[in-house]
Amino acid sequence: MDFRPTEDQLALQESIRRFAAARLDTDLPERDRAGVFSRKLWEECAALGIQGLPLPVEYGGQGADVLTTSLAMEALGEACRDGGLVFSLNAHLWSAAMPLLEFGSERQKSRWLPGMCDGSIVAVHAITEPAAGSDAMALTTSARKDGAMYVLDGTKHFITNAPEADLFIVFATVDRAQGWAGVTAFLVPRDTAGLSVGPGVDKLGLRTSPTGEVVLRDCRVPDRYLLGAPGAGMMVFEYAMRLERACIMASAVGMMRRQLDECLAHTIGRHQFGQPIADFQAVSHTLADMKVRLEAASLLSRHAAWLADRRELEALDASVTKLHVSEAYVRSSLDALQLHGGHGYMTESGIDRDLRDAIGSRIYSGTSQMQRDIIAGRLRMPSTASGS
Ligand SMILES: Cc1cc2nc3c(=O)[nH]c(=O)nc-3n(C[C@H](O)[C@H](O)[C@H](O)COP(=O)(O)OP(=O)(O)OC[C@H]3O[C@@H](n4cnc5c(N)ncnc54)[C@H](O)[C@@H]3O)c2cc1C
Repeated sequence: MDFRPTEDQLALQESIRRFAAARLDTDLPERDRAGVFSRKLWEECAALGIQGLPLPVEYGGQGADVLTTSLAMEALGEACRDGGLVFSLNAHLWSAAMPLLEFGSERQKSRWLPGMCDGSIVAVHAITEPAAGSDAMALTTSARKDGAMYVLDGTKHFITNAPEADLFIVFATVDRAQGWAGVTAFLVPRDTAGLSVGPGVDKLGLRTSPTGEVVLRDCRVPDRYLLGAPGAGMMVFEYAMRLERACIMASAVGMMRRQLDECLAHTIGRHQFGQPIADFQAVSHTLADMKVRLEAASLLSRHAAWLADRRELEALDASVTKLHVSEAYVRSSLDALQLHGGHGYMTESGIDRDLRDAIGSRIYSGTSQMQRDIIAGRLRMPSTASGS
């Protein structure tokens, strides 16, 4: 068991940190206030190879494994303060590109993956509906077979990247009576007649990541746009969620590392009552708690990515990782704000942005309550109760 990243992984992290610090935070307070996604920065990330990190070289990717990609996204989270951009990149990678790589036909992969690597295609994963959120398999978007076509009808909402997207992975049911066994995944290009995308919705955090509604009305796609077999949507969804829950929080680990560094510098430099505030036990213990949360989050996140590379990642591991890291991220963001006092509360510090971004992590990719449900359910299975 070797916990050290390789020299190549450390070098990749360093190059991403340098790139992010130099290029990605331009105009951030303004873009955050206005809720604006930057396609230009998206393209710059693609030019560095970020969107293609875990995708095979033959499709324009970097051919990195999941652990290396996860370490790279950790470094991105550490150096890039634009949490919305980082979130959009993660959603594109884990919930769209990787499921397409896993379940797509050769024709689908060669059609879409090169653009998803080079930044020309933004992709989304669209399952949530107004009446089907945590209970995602209760979706009502229908897919009716009509000759060699499927006709999609329904509405998806809260979809990350939708306002900018070029390709939609849409989940619909071919037969509601079959429940989850009727759920099927489709690839729907943006220019398909019958697909429309609402304007971006305003939100508390992750404001530079666009979120929107997707409406399908008599939207016709050919059979060959099925992602996987009819009725295999649950498998596609579970694969995407396992990977996303395991890996999307790696960037939060990087953000927590930056928060701790900044809190240390601040509390050592800030004097009250004639001494650095870091010398007060109440402050130093908060720093210690932040460190413990960070180390646990880092180990969980790297272990989950390592399991994914071995194709041994189970829903239990993914949910434990997602739950712990997202809750730790929110608590450390609150601590960071508290340790900065009034300055932390002022918008100009940017510390509020980390907290606003962090809160979303308890909801997207399945809420914290749902992660606890999954974990508790797995604990009742004798073979997985104690883990390994
Ligand atoms: C920033 C952001 C990005 C998102 N991006 C996407 C995306 O790209 N694609 C996509 O398809 N969706 C996306 N979503 C939607 C997200 O997956 C859902 O918001 C989430 O699954 C919760 O569903 P809901 O909002 O309908 O809440 P509900 O399911 O209505 O839940 C409301 C509350 O009830 C609780 N609850 C519900 N059922 C149970 C239960 N059985 N036990 C205990 N508590 C329960 C929940 O935990 C929550 O606290 C995104 C959401 C956010 C906030």
